[in-house]
Amino acid sequence: MAIERTFSMIKPDATKRNLTGAITKKLEEAGLSVVASKRIMMTKAQAESFYGVHKERPFFNDLVAFMTSGPTVVQVLEGENAVLKNREVMGATNPANAEPGTIRAEFAESIEANSVHGSDAPETAAEEIAFWFGGNEIVG
Ligand code: ADP
Ligand code: MG
Repeated sequence: MAIERTFSMIKPDATKRNLTGAITKKLEEAGLSVVASKRIMMTKAQAESFYGVHKERPFFNDLVAFMTSGPTVVQVLEGENAVLKNREVMGATNPANAEPGTIRAEFAESIEANSVHGSDAPETAAEEIAFWFGGNEIVG
């Protein structure tokens, strides 16, 4: 398995509770390296565009409001099988269904305020990394 990159976000519910370090520690303990990271205040236009795939979903407006409600830490993670590994460490979208020990099981507040984002496939990872980072911001 080759080294792969994926895109991760620490969402506003987590940054507000000062969980950036605790979440990053779980990612690193799983063998993922943070090769880019920045704390941003997402604009409404960025949130609508980034989550555009969900724009017909009933939760879309609430999701955009949540993602613009506080700081987000956007990150690029690198490691073996990084896309799948990150999804495993994150846990299920709904924390009620997340495996014990996963980030969402330990930290998420709700199905919406679920502490982290992770790309769902290598193709979306490449798109999402390019959405937030220029090449010279990623140092592996
Ligand atoms: P994931 O983040 O696990 O890939 P999705 O891509 O399906 O999940 O959804 C994107 C984000 O939208 C979720 O992480 C969560 O913040 C929010 N979301 C998903 N489903 C719901 C829902 N039923 N109600 C409220 N918010 C939701
Ligand atoms: Mg998703």
